[in-house]
Amino acid sequence: MGSVKIENLHKSFNGIAALEDVSLEIREGEFFALLGPSGCGKTTTMRCVAGFENPTSGKIYIGDRDVSNIPANQRNCGMVFQSYALFPHLTVFENVAYSLQVRRFYQGGLGTKLSVLGGMLNRKLGKVDKDTEKKVRDSLDFVELGHLADRLPGQLSGGQQQRVALARALIMEPAVLLMDEPLSNLDKKLRNSMRVTIRRIQQKVGITTIFVTHDQEEAMSMADRVAVMQGGKLVQVDSPTALYSNPCSTFVADFVGSSNIFKGMVKSSSDQGTVLQLDGGQLIRSSFGTTRSEVEVIIRPESIMLTADQSEKEAANSLEGTITMSTYLGPSIRYDVQAGNLQFEVDKTFEAGTPLFSPGTKVKLSIDPNLVVIL
Ligand code: ADP
Ligand code: MG
Repeated sequence: MGSVKIENLHKSFNGIAALEDVSLEIREGEFFALLGPSGCGKTTTMRCVAGFENPTSGKIYIGDRDVSNIPANQRNCGMVFQSYALFPHLTVFENVAYSLQVRRFYQGGLGTKLSVLGGMLNRKLGKVDKDTEKKVRDSLDFVELGHLADRLPGQLSGGQQQRVALARALIMEPAVLLMDEPLSNLDKKLRNSMRVTIRRIQQKVGITTIFVTHDQEEAMSMADRVAVMQGGKLVQVDSPTALYSNPCSTFVADFVGSSNIFKGMVKSSSDQGTVLQLDGGQLIRSSFGTTRSEVEVIIRPESIMLTADQSEKEAANSLEGTITMSTYLGPSIRYDVQAGNLQFEVDKTFEAGTPLFSPGTKVKLSIDPNLVVIL
């Protein structure tokens, strides 16, 4: 019963709205990302689900249970934060065993209570029982850290510490896993491999996961669905591919990936498509229809063909331009191209042995009308 439903959630701090009417349904077992720029309300949303923040109004359900008025420790949510929040003086093993031990304390008889308490007074964990021991070993093996059980957090890399934090959250067998920017403290290479690790572990456990990030690549590569937030509101909830190919606004288009966004006047439109005049005077065709007379179009940098060949001029959506800059991005080259008074970004796959276009080169841009999206 690990689905999450958020209904008309509002949250204000000192009269200033941080969340406005957020409603979401996250399916059982889903990996769901909350994506948006800093300050848009991602953490506040997550803290409301966890029970660390009281909504100004609105309801939260975990499974069928209305948890809106239930304290955080009874909501059955596991949390992982950007700062790993491990106890520095406890070993990896003890960090992971800690919450189980606390639960043992509350549920145990006097003897157990005294033994746990005695350990904690010594700033140690105290003796754990066989069952706890096995659970901790299993969960450390699960995140592939079994061999580091006796280390202190300070003796681990950032990625290893984050896996300890993950093991510590999962060992409580929560209904929902909440992760707030868990990879932000890691360097880029580690971040990429941790994306895969976290996704693999999440799938293995099958746990409903809400993952907060401001990094579109992270959200798009990891999540089943992504909710894009802006200024305390949800602007679009969709699969990564749908967000990328059918963004509902220029904000989303821009946020989930770089794009060329232009204003255009509609010359004619039907079910067969639309002819637009861009700001720069260029006429282009889109395969999509519209009922409006002024629109914005987005064209992804990788959906523009770039050739130095000037001969065949009559192909659909063919524009002439001049390279102003080239940037090597690894697998692709980003070209800035001036076409009339419009500046295009164009990505071209890098081919070993093929020289880059240098600035000043006259080129032709061809754009497939199917890839000219009208907003
Ligand atoms: P995000 O996680 O997307 O960066 P937050 O949810 O942390 O955004 O914050 C959303 C807005 O609410 C911001 O304007 C932030 O300043 C404000 N806010 C968050 N927590 C508090 C708080 N405890 N007191 C006052 N304002 C807060
Ligand atoms: Mg935040």
